[in-house]
Amino acid sequence: MARIAFIGLGNMGRPMALNLGKAHDVVAYDVSEAARAGVSQSVASLAEAVADADAVITMLPAGSHVRAVYEGAEGVFALAPHMASGGALCIDCSTIDVESSRAVAAAAERAGLAMVDAPVSGGVAAAQAGTLTFMVGGSHGAFARAEPILAHMGRAVIHAGVAGAGQAAKICNNMLLGVSMIGVCEAFILAEKLGLEGQTFFDIASKASGQCWSLTSYCPVPGPVPASPANRGYEPGFAAAMMLKDLRLAQTAAHSAGVATPLGAEAQALYALYAAQGGGRKDFSGIIEMLRGEGMI
Ligand code: NAD
Repeated sequence: MARIAFIGLGNMGRPMALNLGKAHDVVAYDVSEAARAGVSQSVASLAEAVADADAVITMLPAGSHVRAVYEGAEGVFALAPHMASGGALCIDCSTIDVESSRAVAAAAERAGLAMVDAPVSGGVAAAQAGTLTFMVGGSHGAFARAEPILAHMGRAVIHAGVAGAGQAAKICNNMLLGVSMIGVCEAFILAEKLGLEGQTFFDIASKASGQCWSLTSYCPVPGPVPASPANRGYEPGFAAAMMLKDLRLAQTAAHSAGVATPLGAEAQALYALYAAQGGGRKDFSGIIEMLRGEGMI
Protein backbone atom coordinates (compact mmCIF):
# COMPACT_ATOMS: atom_id res chain seq x y z
CA MET A 1 0.00 0.00 0.00
CA ALA A 2 1.53 3.30 -1.10
CA ARG A 3 1.06 6.66 0.56
CA ILE A 4 -0.50 9.00 -2.00
CA ALA A 5 -1.15 12.73 -1.73
CA PHE A 6 -4.28 13.75 -3.67
CA ILE A 7 -4.54 17.49 -4.41
CA GLY A 8 -7.80 19.02 -5.70
CA LEU A 9 -11.06 17.64 -4.30
CA GLY A 10 -13.55 19.16 -6.73
CA ASN A 11 -16.24 17.45 -8.79
CA MET A 12 -13.75 14.99 -10.26
CA GLY A 13 -11.00 14.83 -7.66
CA ARG A 14 -13.21 13.95 -4.71
CA PRO A 15 -14.68 10.72 -6.16
CA MET A 16 -11.28 9.79 -7.64
CA ALA A 17 -9.60 10.20 -4.25
CA LEU A 18 -12.33 8.14 -2.59
CA ASN A 19 -11.85 5.28 -5.07
CA LEU A 20 -8.07 5.40 -4.71
CA GLY A 21 -8.47 5.38 -0.91
CA LYS A 22 -9.95 1.88 -1.14
CA ALA A 23 -6.53 0.55 -2.21
CA HIS A 24 -3.95 3.05 -0.92
CA ASP A 25 -3.22 5.30 2.02
CA VAL A 26 -4.54 8.57 0.53
CA VAL A 27 -3.93 11.94 2.19
CA ALA A 28 -6.04 14.61 0.50
CA TYR A 29 -5.76 18.39 0.25
CA ASP A 30 -7.76 21.18 -1.37
CA VAL A 31 -7.24 24.90 -0.92
CA SER A 32 -10.98 25.20 -0.26
CA GLU A 33 -12.16 24.19 3.20
CA ALA A 34 -15.60 23.40 1.78
CA ALA A 35 -14.04 20.94 -0.68
CA ARG A 36 -12.13 19.24 2.15
CA ALA A 37 -15.23 18.89 4.33
CA GLY A 38 -16.41 15.32 4.65
CA VAL A 39 -13.26 13.81 3.14
CA SER A 40 -11.67 11.74 5.87
CA GLN A 41 -7.88 11.74 5.54
CA SER A 42 -7.95 15.36 4.34
CA VAL A 43 -5.39 17.74 5.79
CA ALA A 44 -5.18 21.54 5.91
CA SER A 45 -1.91 22.10 4.04
CA LEU A 46 -0.07 20.91 0.95
CA ALA A 47 3.04 20.26 3.06
CA GLU A 48 1.13 17.85 5.33
CA ALA A 49 -0.39 16.09 2.33
CA VAL A 50 2.88 15.41 0.53
CA ALA A 51 4.99 14.51 3.59
CA ASP A 52 6.43 10.99 3.05
CA ALA A 53 4.32 10.58 -0.10
CA ASP A 54 5.25 7.91 -2.66
CA ALA A 55 3.10 9.66 -5.25
CA VAL A 56 1.32 13.00 -5.68
CA ILE A 57 -1.83 13.26 -7.80
CA THR A 58 -3.31 16.61 -8.84
CA MET A 59 -6.81 17.28 -10.24
CA LEU A 60 -6.96 21.06 -10.65
CA PRO A 61 -8.88 23.52 -12.84
CA ALA A 62 -6.21 24.89 -15.24
CA GLY A 63 -2.52 25.26 -16.10
CA SER A 64 -1.95 28.22 -13.74
CA HIS A 65 -3.20 26.17 -10.75
CA VAL A 66 -1.05 23.20 -11.71
CA ARG A 67 2.08 25.35 -12.10
CA ALA A 68 1.43 27.05 -8.75
CA VAL A 69 0.90 23.77 -6.89
CA TYR A 70 4.05 22.14 -8.32
CA GLU A 71 6.41 25.04 -8.97
CA GLY A 72 5.36 27.56 -6.29
CA ALA A 73 7.78 28.62 -3.56
CA GLU A 74 5.99 26.26 -1.15
CA GLY A 75 4.89 23.86 -3.86
CA VAL A 76 5.39 20.14 -4.43
CA PHE A 77 8.86 20.45 -5.97
CA ALA A 78 10.10 22.62 -3.08
CA LEU A 79 8.76 19.95 -0.73
CA ALA A 80 10.50 17.09 -2.58
CA PRO A 81 13.06 16.49 0.23
CA HIS A 82 10.16 15.67 2.61
CA MET A 83 8.68 12.99 0.34
CA ALA A 84 9.45 9.27 0.23
CA SER A 85 13.15 8.57 -0.20
CA GLY A 86 14.04 7.92 -3.82
CA GLY A 87 11.51 10.51 -4.99
CA ALA A 88 7.76 10.59 -5.38
CA LEU A 89 5.99 10.11 -8.69
CA CYS A 90 3.92 13.15 -9.73
CA ILE A 91 0.73 12.52 -11.72
CA ASP A 92 -1.25 15.48 -13.05
CA CYS A 93 -4.76 14.39 -14.06
CA SER A 94 -6.03 17.94 -14.78
CA THR A 95 -6.83 19.03 -18.34
CA ILE A 96 -4.35 21.84 -19.07
CA ASP A 97 -2.46 23.37 -21.99
CA VAL A 98 0.31 21.28 -23.51
CA GLU A 99 2.92 24.01 -22.97
CA SER A 100 2.32 24.25 -19.19
CA SER A 101 2.22 20.48 -18.94
CA ARG A 102 5.63 20.16 -20.62
CA ALA A 103 7.08 23.01 -18.52
CA VAL A 104 5.97 21.35 -15.25
CA ALA A 105 7.36 17.98 -16.39
CA ALA A 106 10.72 19.63 -17.14
CA ALA A 107 10.70 21.31 -13.71
CA ALA A 108 9.92 17.94 -12.10
CA GLU A 109 12.97 16.46 -13.78
CA ARG A 110 15.11 19.31 -12.44
CA ALA A 111 13.72 18.58 -8.96
CA GLY A 112 14.70 14.92 -9.37
CA LEU A 113 11.10 13.67 -9.57
CA ALA A 114 9.36 11.56 -12.20
CA MET A 115 6.16 12.99 -13.65
CA VAL A 116 3.36 12.09 -16.04
CA ASP A 117 0.41 14.05 -17.38
CA ALA A 118 -2.68 11.84 -17.20
CA PRO A 119 -5.84 13.75 -18.20
CA VAL A 120 -9.07 11.81 -18.16
CA SER A 121 -11.97 11.11 -20.45
CA GLY A 122 -15.29 10.49 -18.72
CA GLY A 123 -17.12 12.90 -16.44
CA VAL A 124 -18.21 12.86 -12.81
CA ALA A 125 -20.23 9.66 -13.24
CA ALA A 126 -17.16 7.81 -14.56
CA ALA A 127 -15.03 9.28 -11.76
CA GLN A 128 -17.54 7.93 -9.23
CA ALA A 129 -17.76 4.53 -10.90
CA GLY A 130 -13.98 4.26 -11.30
CA THR A 131 -14.33 3.85 -15.06
CA LEU A 132 -12.28 6.80 -16.35
CA THR A 133 -9.93 6.57 -19.34
CA PHE A 134 -6.46 8.00 -18.62
CA MET A 135 -4.25 9.31 -21.46
CA VAL A 136 -0.73 9.35 -20.14
CA GLY A 137 2.33 11.32 -21.26
CA GLY A 138 5.79 10.62 -19.86
CA SER A 139 8.71 8.20 -19.93
CA HIS A 140 8.12 4.43 -20.06
CA GLY A 141 9.49 4.14 -16.52
CA ALA A 142 7.15 6.80 -15.14
CA PHE A 143 4.19 5.26 -17.00
CA ALA A 144 4.97 1.85 -15.51
CA ARG A 145 4.84 3.39 -12.02
CA ALA A 146 1.66 5.40 -12.72
CA GLU A 147 -0.39 2.67 -14.41
CA PRO A 148 -1.21 0.50 -11.35
CA ILE A 149 -2.18 3.59 -9.35
CA LEU A 150 -4.44 5.00 -12.07
CA ALA A 151 -6.03 1.58 -12.62
CA HIS A 152 -7.85 2.01 -9.27
CA MET A 153 -9.72 4.99 -10.74
CA GLY A 154 -10.29 3.93 -14.32
CA ARG A 155 -10.82 1.07 -16.72
CA ALA A 156 -8.30 2.15 -19.37
CA VAL A 157 -4.81 3.60 -18.86
CA ILE A 158 -3.13 4.33 -22.19
CA HIS A 159 0.45 5.50 -22.78
CA ALA A 160 0.19 8.32 -25.33
CA GLY A 161 3.92 9.18 -25.58
CA VAL A 162 6.36 11.68 -24.06
CA ALA A 163 5.51 14.43 -21.55
CA GLY A 164 2.50 16.45 -22.71
CA ALA A 165 1.28 13.69 -25.06
CA GLY A 166 -1.62 12.86 -22.71
CA GLN A 167 -2.81 16.48 -22.88
CA ALA A 168 -2.35 16.50 -26.65
CA ALA A 169 -4.51 13.36 -26.99
CA LYS A 170 -7.17 14.79 -24.68
CA ILE A 171 -7.61 18.12 -26.50
CA CYS A 172 -7.52 16.51 -29.96
CA ASN A 173 -10.19 14.02 -28.85
CA ASN A 174 -12.37 16.75 -27.38
CA MET A 175 -11.97 18.98 -30.44
CA LEU A 176 -13.26 16.05 -32.51
CA LEU A 177 -16.12 15.55 -30.02
CA GLY A 178 -17.15 19.23 -30.14
CA VAL A 179 -17.10 19.30 -33.93
CA SER A 180 -18.99 16.00 -34.25
CA MET A 181 -21.67 17.08 -31.76
CA ILE A 182 -22.36 20.26 -33.74
CA GLY A 183 -22.51 18.21 -36.94
CA VAL A 184 -25.01 15.78 -35.40
CA CYS A 185 -27.15 18.67 -34.10
CA GLU A 186 -27.26 20.31 -37.54
CA ALA A 187 -28.20 17.03 -39.19
CA PHE A 188 -31.14 16.48 -36.79
CA ILE A 189 -32.37 20.06 -37.25
CA LEU A 190 -32.30 19.74 -41.05
CA ALA A 191 -33.83 16.25 -40.98
CA GLU A 192 -36.73 17.52 -38.88
CA LYS A 193 -37.29 20.53 -41.18
CA LEU A 194 -37.36 18.12 -44.14
CA GLY A 195 -40.14 16.16 -42.44
CA LEU A 196 -38.20 13.24 -40.97
CA GLU A 197 -39.01 12.02 -37.46
CA GLY A 198 -35.98 12.31 -35.15
CA GLN A 199 -36.19 8.62 -34.27
CA THR A 200 -36.34 7.64 -37.95
CA PHE A 201 -33.29 9.73 -38.80
CA PHE A 202 -31.47 8.21 -35.79
CA ASP A 203 -32.34 4.65 -36.89
CA ILE A 204 -30.95 5.34 -40.36
CA ALA A 205 -27.86 7.46 -39.55
CA SER A 206 -26.78 5.15 -36.72
CA LYS A 207 -26.55 2.35 -39.30
CA ALA A 208 -25.15 4.52 -42.08
CA SER A 209 -21.92 6.44 -42.64
CA GLY A 210 -22.97 9.33 -40.36
CA GLN A 211 -22.65 7.05 -37.33
CA CYS A 212 -20.50 8.47 -34.51
CA TRP A 213 -20.37 8.58 -30.68
CA SER A 214 -22.18 11.95 -30.50
CA LEU A 215 -25.09 10.32 -32.34
CA THR A 216 -25.30 6.81 -30.93
CA SER A 217 -24.14 7.30 -27.32
CA TYR A 218 -24.98 10.93 -26.64
CA CYS A 219 -27.82 11.78 -29.01
CA PRO A 220 -28.70 15.51 -28.67
CA VAL A 221 -32.45 14.98 -29.23
CA PRO A 222 -34.66 13.28 -26.63
CA GLY A 223 -35.81 9.72 -27.27
CA PRO A 224 -33.36 7.60 -29.24
CA VAL A 225 -30.70 7.23 -26.49
CA PRO A 226 -32.48 7.17 -23.10
CA ALA A 227 -29.30 7.89 -21.09
CA SER A 228 -28.36 11.03 -23.05
CA PRO A 229 -28.72 14.47 -21.34
CA ALA A 230 -31.31 15.50 -23.97
CA ASN A 231 -33.80 13.41 -21.97
CA ARG A 232 -33.28 15.46 -18.79
CA GLY A 233 -33.30 19.05 -20.03
CA TYR A 234 -29.59 19.00 -20.97
CA GLU A 235 -28.44 18.75 -17.38
CA PRO A 236 -24.73 17.82 -17.56
CA GLY A 237 -23.11 15.33 -18.19
CA PHE A 238 -20.26 17.27 -19.65
CA ALA A 239 -20.89 20.99 -19.28
CA ALA A 240 -20.65 23.25 -22.34
CA ALA A 241 -18.26 25.49 -20.33
CA MET A 242 -15.87 22.52 -20.01
CA MET A 243 -16.14 21.81 -23.72
CA LEU A 244 -15.36 25.47 -24.42
CA LYS A 245 -12.29 25.27 -22.18
CA ASP A 246 -11.00 22.22 -24.08
CA LEU A 247 -11.73 23.79 -27.50
CA ARG A 248 -9.77 26.88 -26.43
CA LEU A 249 -6.85 24.67 -25.36
CA ALA A 250 -6.99 22.97 -28.76
CA GLN A 251 -6.91 26.34 -30.57
CA THR A 252 -3.98 27.54 -28.44
CA ALA A 253 -2.11 24.35 -29.32
CA ALA A 254 -3.05 24.67 -33.00
CA HIS A 255 -1.72 28.26 -33.10
CA SER A 256 1.57 27.35 -31.48
CA ALA A 257 1.96 24.29 -33.74
CA GLY A 258 1.07 26.38 -36.83
CA VAL A 259 -1.76 24.00 -37.76
CA ALA A 260 -5.05 25.12 -39.34
CA THR A 261 -8.07 23.62 -37.57
CA PRO A 262 -10.93 25.69 -39.04
CA LEU A 263 -13.72 23.40 -37.81
CA GLY A 264 -12.18 23.38 -34.32
CA ALA A 265 -12.08 27.19 -34.44
CA GLU A 266 -15.73 27.32 -35.54
CA ALA A 267 -16.74 24.90 -32.79
CA GLN A 268 -14.96 27.10 -30.25
CA ALA A 269 -16.80 30.20 -31.53
CA LEU A 270 -20.18 28.43 -31.38
CA TYR A 271 -19.60 27.12 -27.84
CA ALA A 272 -18.44 30.62 -26.76
CA LEU A 273 -21.72 32.00 -28.14
CA TYR A 274 -23.72 29.27 -26.39
CA ALA A 275 -21.95 30.01 -23.09
CA ALA A 276 -22.51 33.77 -23.54
CA GLN A 277 -26.22 33.08 -24.00
CA GLY A 278 -26.36 31.20 -20.70
CA GLY A 279 -25.67 27.65 -21.89
CA GLY A 280 -22.32 27.16 -20.14
CA ARG A 281 -23.76 25.12 -17.29
CA LYS A 282 -25.91 22.98 -19.55
CA ASP A 283 -24.65 19.81 -21.17
CA PHE A 284 -22.61 20.44 -24.32
CA SER A 285 -25.24 18.61 -26.41
CA GLY A 286 -27.69 21.39 -25.43
CA ILE A 287 -26.07 23.54 -28.12
CA ILE A 288 -28.80 22.12 -30.37
CA GLU A 289 -31.19 24.61 -28.72
CA MET A 290 -29.10 27.53 -29.91
CA LEU A 291 -28.51 26.03 -33.37
CA ARG A 292 -32.30 25.61 -33.73
CA GLY A 293 -32.57 29.34 -33.11
CA GLU A 294 -34.70 28.74 -30.03
CA GLY A 295 -34.33 31.97 -28.01
CA MET A 296 -32.84 29.95 -25.10
CA ILE A 297 -32.77 29.11 -21.59
P1 NAD B 1 -13.46 21.64 -9.89
O1 NAD B 1 -13.38 23.12 -10.11
O2 NAD B 1 -14.74 21.05 -9.39
O3 NAD B 1 -12.30 21.19 -8.86
C1 NAD B 1 -11.03 21.76 -8.82
C2 NAD B 1 -10.58 21.82 -7.36
O4 NAD B 1 -9.23 22.30 -7.30
C3 NAD B 1 -11.42 22.78 -6.52
O5 NAD B 1 -11.99 22.10 -5.41
C4 NAD B 1 -10.42 23.84 -6.07
O6 NAD B 1 -10.67 24.38 -4.78
C5 NAD B 1 -9.12 23.07 -6.12
N1 NAD B 1 -7.93 23.93 -6.20
C6 NAD B 1 -7.72 25.03 -6.97
N2 NAD B 1 -6.51 25.54 -6.72
C7 NAD B 1 -5.94 24.75 -5.76
C8 NAD B 1 -4.69 24.78 -5.09
N3 NAD B 1 -3.78 25.74 -5.33
N4 NAD B 1 -4.44 23.82 -4.17
C9 NAD B 1 -5.34 22.86 -3.90
N5 NAD B 1 -6.54 22.79 -4.50
C10 NAD B 1 -6.84 23.72 -5.42
O7 NAD B 1 -13.04 20.99 -11.27
P2 NAD B 1 -13.34 19.47 -11.78
O8 NAD B 1 -14.64 19.44 -12.49
O9 NAD B 1 -13.08 18.55 -10.65
O10 NAD B 1 -12.21 19.34 -12.91
C11 NAD B 1 -10.85 19.16 -12.57
C12 NAD B 1 -10.07 18.99 -13.86
O11 NAD B 1 -10.57 17.84 -14.56
C13 NAD B 1 -10.16 20.17 -14.84
O12 NAD B 1 -8.91 20.38 -15.42
C14 NAD B 1 -11.19 19.69 -15.86
O13 NAD B 1 -11.01 20.28 -17.14
C15 NAD B 1 -10.91 18.20 -15.90
N6 NAD B 1 -12.06 17.36 -16.31
C16 NAD B 1 -13.29 17.59 -15.78
C17 NAD B 1 -14.36 16.79 -16.19
C18 NAD B 1 -15.74 17.03 -15.62
O14 NAD B 1 -16.71 16.47 -16.18
N7 NAD B 1 -15.90 17.79 -14.55
C19 NAD B 1 -14.16 15.76 -17.11
C20 NAD B 1 -12.88 15.52 -17.61
C21 NAD B 1 -11.83 16.35 -17.19
